[in-house]
Amino acid sequence: MSSEPVSHEHLKERAEAILQRAVLFRQEEAPAWGEQIERTGEIPSGLWERMRNLGFRRLTLPQWAGGEGLPLEMYFPILEEMSHNHGSIRMIFHVSNSIWRTIAKGSEEQQKYWLPRVANGDAVVAFALTEPDNGTGIDLQTTAVYENGKFVLNGRKHLITFAHEADVTVVIAKTDASLGRYGLTAFLVPRGRDGMKLEPMPEMMGDKGCSHAIVTFDQCVVSEEEVLGSVGQGFEIALRGFLDQSRASIAQSAVGLAQEAQDRALDFVRRRTTFGKPLSSRQAVQMRLADMATLTQAARLLCLDAARKFDAGLDIAREAAMAKGFAIRMVREVTDGALALYGGVGYAVNSPVERLYRDARSLWFEEGTLEMQNMTVAESLLSDARKRDRQQRQTAATIVD
Ligand SMILES: Cc1cc2nc3c(=O)[nH]c(=O)nc-3n(C[C@H](O)[C@H](O)[C@H](O)COP(=O)(O)OP(=O)(O)OC[C@H]3O[C@@H](n4cnc5c(N)ncnc54)[C@H](O)[C@@H]3O)c2cc1C
Repeated sequence: MSSEPVSHEHLKERAEAILQRAVLFRQEEAPAWGEQIERTGEIPSGLWERMRNLGFRRLTLPQWAGGEGLPLEMYFPILEEMSHNHGSIRMIFHVSNSIWRTIAKGSEEQQKYWLPRVANGDAVVAFALTEPDNGTGIDLQTTAVYENGKFVLNGRKHLITFAHEADVTVVIAKTDASLGRYGLTAFLVPRGRDGMKLEPMPEMMGDKGCSHAIVTFDQCVVSEEEVLGSVGQGFEIALRGFLDQSRASIAQSAVGLAQEAQDRALDFVRRRTTFGKPLSSRQAVQMRLADMATLTQAARLLCLDAARKFDAGLDIAREAAMAKGFAIRMVREVTDGALALYGGVGYAVNSPVERLYRDARSLWFEEGTLEMQNMTVAESLLSDARKRDRQQRQTAATIVD
């Protein structure tokens, strides 16, 4: 699973060229796709195809699998650019470039089978963690019981993005209730498996066209070969394998969406005149614009920090949670500001800022709410404090000896 190493310079050139392609796509094609999705409430299959043909669905996948192998630091500006577009376009882009990372924690066979298919756009992967009746993490109640050399899945997931489109779903289930986080296991469940039923969720307020499913497992049999990683590694695969970088990616998506809202608002206040002067000449309006721009830039830099550390192979649990927690507050403030600056016409359905306002809300939930991000940050702070205490006690004991 290795291929010729590509130089950093070459990767940067590739990333720059793809970014330019994304800019053209935003200017020339994305508005029509977005308008069609809002009108029909569906993502046309041609959009998945178009994004595959433009090479947008393989940017972070490894080169041996046919991907571009872009590190996060080079990928993030492209993700930001794509996040100016309709929320469903951003979702296709994000899902394609992030969920595959769970499979990268699997066996060589699993990787060789699935990753080239994901890279060339033949396979879509969904990720099923959230449950309707339980909290996320060790509270999960979907079980996988080992019987006669196979696992039997029972339980219910919901809000699972693109489960209907997915060729394979990564399912996190409980294999041993007594082991806490080490009692969770990840499984690869291919589309159409007996005992797996999909039902659509109610229509969502934003990201129109994106499908989200309720996924029920009733005596659904999965083989040992379909265990992802090893038994008991599900928490690690979900969090470290996927969610950390995905949280940072959602934060970067918020930056792109906020930048779009800001650009629209700036353009509007320069054109709109009240009491004989453009709105942009009013100091109160200028202060608001400055705050919006500063918050957006601060979130962008938190994302960059997380991306650089991830690319260097460091644990980014804290950085990703900080970036996401900050970015969702930022995007709420900025989209609210843009709507306010537009005045009453901004509140009209299909005004340039009302869709952004709606789409921004999904970022609040994807990969966990603000409280969940803050819990991760606090856990990391407290764990560091405990480590420092232990070290101080050890140093003191050494001095006494
Ligand atoms: C558009 C969209 C796409 C999604 N896609 C997927 C997907 O593909 N796969 C998937 O698995 N999930 C997906 N989700 C689910 C998403 O990850 C969850 O909605 C999110 O993590 C919040 O979990 P919950 O809905 O169970 O909320 P709950 O856990 O029920 O939380 C409800 C509220 O209570 C707060 N809360 C909960 N527990 C605590 C606590 N211990 N202390 C303090 N406050 C707490 C939360 O912060 C939140 O404000 C998606 C959701 C949306 C909206």
